[in-house]
Amino acid sequence: MTSVADDLEKKIVAALADLREAVSRFAPVTFASSMGAEDMVLTDLIYRNNLDIEIFSIDTGRLPQQTYALMAAADKHYGKPAKIYVPQAVSVEGFIQTYGINGFFDSIDARKACCHARKVEPLRRALTGKRAWVTGLRSTQSSTREAVSASAFDENNGLQKINPLAQWSEVEVWQYLRANDVPYNALHDQGFPSIGCAPCTRAVQPGEDIRAGRWWWENPETKECGLHMVDGRLQRIKTGTT
Ligand code: SF4
Repeated sequence: MTSVADDLEKKIVAALADLREAVSRFAPVTFASSMGAEDMVLTDLIYRNNLDIEIFSIDTGRLPQQTYALMAAADKHYGKPAKIYVPQAVSVEGFIQTYGINGFFDSIDARKACCHARKVEPLRRALTGKRAWVTGLRSTQSSTREAVSASAFDENNGLQKINPLAQWSEVEVWQYLRANDVPYNALHDQGFPSIGCAPCTRAVQPGEDIRAGRWWWENPETKECGLHMVDGRLQRIKTGTT
């Protein structure tokens, strides 16, 4: 019978194999870190193993202070500043002009317009010139993410998408972070399992879906920011296609 530690070790080995294969087959590769718990696992794996994968984050301009604190702490911990993309001023100004400074609360269309200006457009720039991107998506994160798996071509963005933690559990993510003394967002200790922009994220109650605190005023099916969507649905990814 294998132990919990053995299972985690096997998943670490598999995740590293996915990352190394991505580098060998799809360079240049970039990793989109939203500074969540899963993203910190991947950041640690990439830096600790000196993998040739750029790490970037998107500063939407509405992130919680704790996320900025983690960005600074991670830069210091690894001695390597991550690349930060910011939205185009004209796009944010256009959103505010049309919908108001907090207009994303008023309708799904307005919320998606805000996410597009502050997240999707910077992501597209970050992916330009890359042949693959890595994400920290896990298949058990929510009802919108059940289809997530290891790797597939991302038709929406025109490059390979690698999800090395697709089969990791939340428990395994935290086992890794604690065993390796990896910095993480202080909000995780205050009931925030999933963290996005400050106005669109709140704490969840014990037993709630871990993404229940994201855009909590919407139906579960609509709760993605557009980074992982195709035609309004979460991108369906098949295994074994790398
Ligand atoms: S999460 Fe909220 S504040 Fe952030 S980009 Fe989306 S709608 Fe705008």
